Amino acid sequence: MSYIAINTITMDKDELKKKLTPEEYRVTQEKGTERPFHNEYFDHHEKGMYECKVCGTPLFSSETKFDSGTGWPSFDEALPGALLYHEDSTLGMTRTEVMCAKCGAHLGHMFTDGPKETTGKRFCTNSASLSFKKNE
Ligand code: FE
Repeated sequence: MSYIAINTITMDKDELKKKLTPEEYRVTQEKGTERPFHNEYFDHHEKGMYECKVCGTPLFSSETKFDSGTGWPSFDEALPGALLYHEDSTLGMTRTEVMCAKCGAHLGHMFTDGPKETTGKRFCTNSASLSFKKNE
């Protein structure tokens, strides 16, 4: 596993607690996981851009979103340079955690069982980590 060294901006914890809901804080800052099928974007199909909830950086285009059946918003590709990858060995398995490269917000995990006809990757994200901006 290779680590990509990018300087992330440091966000003030108290400011973030004011800006985010408790659920958004738990997921993005404490690497939490929201409930599947009970989140904003898992079944959302509008055209536009999914951005980091914390810092607003564009992360995933709706063009790369697919229905994984997991109950979480899933993408087969991220915007170039948008993510930071980290090997996560919690819960007795090794997974690749993905974070916003700019602010370090936890987004979810990347798996290699995505659509074979495209990238083969599955970025399994939390709606709590994302904001959607519709195409004009
Ligand atoms: Fe961010």
